[in-house]
Amino acid sequence: MGPPGAGKGTQGELLARKLGIPRYSTGDILRQALRDGTPMGVEAKRFMHAGELVPDGVILGIIGEALQHDDSGGGFLLDGFPRTVAQAEGLQVLLADQGLALDAIVNLVVDDAEIGKRLSTRGRKDDTVDTIRRRLEVYRADTRPVLEWYGNHDTRVLSVKGVGDIEEIQAHILERLGL
Ligand code: ADP
Repeated sequence: MGPPGAGKGTQGELLARKLGIPRYSTGDILRQALRDGTPMGVEAKRFMHAGELVPDGVILGIIGEALQHDDSGGGFLLDGFPRTVAQAEGLQVLLADQGLALDAIVNLVVDDAEIGKRLSTRGRKDDTVDTIRRRLEVYRADTRPVLEWYGNHDTRVLSVKGVGDIEEIQAHILERLGL
């Protein structure tokens, strides 16, 4: 977890490759649906381009589907999800159905000034000044409370500084995970 632009995708990809496990990124899956022009992509587009969260039902559908087809025996990485307490609650049910539980949450910590700098130079389609501002607001209001929620639900939240050399950040993540 972490604010937009914290490096979740970058670090998530490295970690999944290192561990040889699948990574399920709701952002990537949504962007693919947008490119493919599927009904879900069409519905998600207006939320993504406005910096809003895609509705929980859609997101839980994506993750439910991914977990249903997952054959990693529970060794997977979730990236960009859950982003609301309702999603975290939904995930709890999906995992319990399969006799699984999360090992840990990795929280990438990056301050607002650095986030602003990164997003304004990244140039992805949904990275306009207005959407960036809105995504940060939504992060504070809806996503940050998820960290506290996990703290109250017996799941370790490992906060790792997300600024500096990419490989060094990855090394810190592995160290905090005890890997
Ligand atoms: P970033 O890490 O920069 O926030 P993502 O690729 O994770 O970007 O997500 C891009 C957009 O996709 C988000 O701004 C949001 O509109 C949508 N999205 C991704 N994951 C979720 C989620 N778990 N819940 C709701 N919306 C999501």
